[in-house]
Amino acid sequence: MTFRIGTAIKECTPDGVVVGEGEEIRAQTVIWTGGIRGNRLIEEAGFETMRGRVKVDEFLRAPGHENIYIVGDNSIIFNPEGRPYPPTAQIAMQQGVTCAHNLVASIRNQPLKKFEFHNKGTVASLGKGEAIGIAFGKKYKGRVAAWLKKLIDLRYLFIIGGIPLVLRKGKFF
Ligand SMILES: Cc1cc2nc3c(=O)[nH]c(=O)nc-3n(C[C@H](O)[C@H](O)[C@H](O)COP(=O)(O)OP(=O)(O)OC[C@H]3O[C@@H](n4cnc5c(N)ncnc54)[C@H](O)[C@@H]3O)c2cc1C
Repeated sequence: MTFRIGTAIKECTPDGVVVGEGEEIRAQTVIWTGGIRGNRLIEEAGFETMRGRVKVDEFLRAPGHENIYIVGDNSIIFNPEGRPYPPTAQIAMQQGVTCAHNLVASIRNQPLKKFEFHNKGTVASLGKGEAIGIAFGKKYKGRVAAWLKKLIDLRYLFIIGGIPLVLRKGKFF
């Protein structure tokens, strides 16, 4: 096994990947593990960031700014063990709810709500009809997990945009 540290992938093709100055590494299976970073706009706006993400306070505000909230992939918050929560749609949506509450509260001079993440589980797609995951305290795999993943996606669309968004963007099969 050879590790190629610090080598950027330029292109992914049906036959493998292209790295560096055009060198091709042939492979039938390519696994992407690229991490998520915040939008460069956040750095350009002058916020102090960690990989482009702002360490927000317990109310989801940018440090030193009482009137700026940052949620989703552009924010970073830590679990009780001091490790950052991974940037996921699940946490972004929960932050959205707290942020909306806090925006209204700050306009009305009411107390702000601390953000608390409630982990509902994790399901990862492994291709068509295949997935693995943990939800409701149980492990799932294969077709059942794949259906669970679809259900989660549809629920996500429903919460954001109701039935019209589900019908417009939802993938049922
Ligand atoms: C390949 C992939 C698979 C993933 N799978 C999962 C998964 O299975 N489960 C899960 O929970 N999470 C998953 N995630 C992570 C999840 O998508 C993100 O954590 C989530 O979307 C973050 O929400 P967000 O609102 O912060 O950002 P986004 O959903 O990325 O929304 C940001 C929006 O801002 C817009 N925008 C960007 N720049 C500007 C600008 N300058 N002006 C105006 N608008 C702008 C973008 O177009 C976009 O619509 C996955 C991510 C990737 C890349």
